[in-house]
Amino acid sequence: MSRRSAHDTVFERQRPAAAAVEQALAGARRSAFWLDDIALSRTRFETLRHTIDADLVIVGGGYTGLWSALRALERRPDARVVVLEAGRVGWAASGRNGGFCEASITHGDENGESRWPEELQTLRRLGDENLDAIEETVARYGMQCDFERTGTLTVAVEPHQVDWVRGDGFLVAAAVRAEVMSPTYLAGAWNKRSTVLVHPAKLAAELARVVTELGGKIFEGSRVVDLGSVGRGAGRLDSGVSGASGASGGSGGGVASGASVAPGGGVAVRTASGGTVRAAHAILATNVFPSLLKRNRGMTVPVYDYALMTEPLSDAQMASIGWANRQGIADLANQFHYYRLSADNRILFGGYDAVYHFGSKVRPSYEERAASFSTLASHLLTTFPQLLGIRFSNAWAGPIDTSTRFCAFFGTARQNRVAYAAGFTGLGVGASRFAADVVLDLLSGQQTERTQLRMVRERPLPFPPEPAASIGINLTRWSLDRADHRGGRRNLLLRSLDAVGLGFDS
Ligand SMILES: Cc1cc2nc3c(=O)[nH]c(=O)nc-3n(C[C@H](O)[C@H](O)[C@H](O)COP(=O)(O)OP(=O)(O)OC[C@H]3O[C@@H](n4cnc5c(N)ncnc54)[C@H](O)[C@@H]3O)c2cc1C
Repeated sequence: MSRRSAHDTVFERQRPAAAAVEQALAGARRSAFWLDDIALSRTRFETLRHTIDADLVIVGGGYTGLWSALRALERRPDARVVVLEAGRVGWAASGRNGGFCEASITHGDENGESRWPEELQTLRRLGDENLDAIEETVARYGMQCDFERTGTLTVAVEPHQVDWVRGDGFLVAAAVRAEVMSPTYLAGAWNKRSTVLVHPAKLAAELARVVTELGGKIFEGSRVVDLGSVGRGAGRLDSGVSGASGASGGSGGGVASGASVAPGGGVAVRTASGGTVRAAHAILATNVFPSLLKRNRGMTVPVYDYALMTEPLSDAQMASIGWANRQGIADLANQFHYYRLSADNRILFGGYDAVYHFGSKVRPSYEERAASFSTLASHLLTTFPQLLGIRFSNAWAGPIDTSTRFCAFFGTARQNRVAYAAGFTGLGVGASRFAADVVLDLLSGQQTERTQLRMVRERPLPFPPEPAASIGINLTRWSLDRADHRGGRRNLLLRSLDAVGLGFDS
């Protein structure tokens, strides 16, 4: 029998039987539901084995790389844009996330306000405009990605969280339970515009479709192993793009201001598959994976996040929960859960555990963690006891692209021929489009509202080397869990981290 303490959370106080959890998980495939769901319709792109010239080469075929390609082609339709992806388009975080596409580009207002208070209004506006632009783009190209602008329902599941949701859209317990029936809800707030839900893998696949329809070229199985420079006059770098202006729909000039190519040479990226792309400019969109720029190693660390997907709910099961307005839901703990419905009424239930492994490696073996899957299954049954007997079809994990400022950072290298964006810290579905515009602005060499932001100009602190990184991250995680079990009270470590801008509060 487990010991109960005054500091237990609702998930411990109302824990379901271990056998029910085990039964629910029996038979769950260890694969991301979203990627399985599109397996039959997914386009396969060829591998690059020869040398080609381009105006812009993009390394990484997740949202950041694909949005960069799409925006580059919208800005300058005649640009030669090439995307090189090591695996398959969208196989990594972009194809396996929760699908919460949020307006915030700063990982929430609190994080933005604590770092760039004087810019917060601008950052909020740019985030809102970015989300509206995503909606408009999805509609304009007819992108089939189960797009639903249903907002986020933030729920308080412990008494100390109730005050945290007071404000716009506040719902008392009865009102929040009328939206979605969970006995754990004590209060809530529904922000109706700030979040769009998408099918993440379909979004990546549809971005790839649009990129190719606009004339971009995508190569899969084409891992870039070297980022070099080519001098002036090499290849066709100084032809075709000189003097091109062609900006369309962006404040930052051409694709990457092609006019700067002729005098200065460009970049040459080499792939493990034997291909080379010589281009005027490169964008690095490799996120949590090792950067091709030494200076960026250590700027992000992979922290593993876990998710489950249920079988589709029956009409009776849906009726027992309500959820007619199909909001995305998140609770307010430091170790929080996020959950939502799929188009066919499955529940995706993710979050809570966040696991860092010594050495900052991205390894498929880290995705298997039975304890985390059991915890999530147990917490879903606490949240919705009326679903007892439900089964999970999928269980998976992926590395969160964590940076010390909890939102993306940006920069350029190699005399402004290379730009990069990474470190979305688990909130990159929407922000990756904003990041694409930032890196294109930076490559254009022109000042824009985006490039003048402190948020864009400032570089975050790197993570310390091991063993300090794992000691620091794991102590922080332990402290956050402890705070959740102690009425939200933050210990000395968390208060000190808060004071220097390194404290995490979801
Ligand atoms: C489980 C999970 C749940 C999440 N839930 C949410 C959510 O609900 N909402 C939200 O906003 N965010 C969420 N995120 C975060 C979000 O998915 C990411 O921030 C976003 O997908 C980042 O996109 P990206 O293109 O930068 O990175 P990725 O999708 O990781 O793409 C990077 C790509 O670069 C490729 N690459 C790396 N190195 C090379 C190389 N040398 N050569 C060629 N290609 C290379 C990789 O193969 C990969 O495809 C979640 C993440 C995880 C893991």
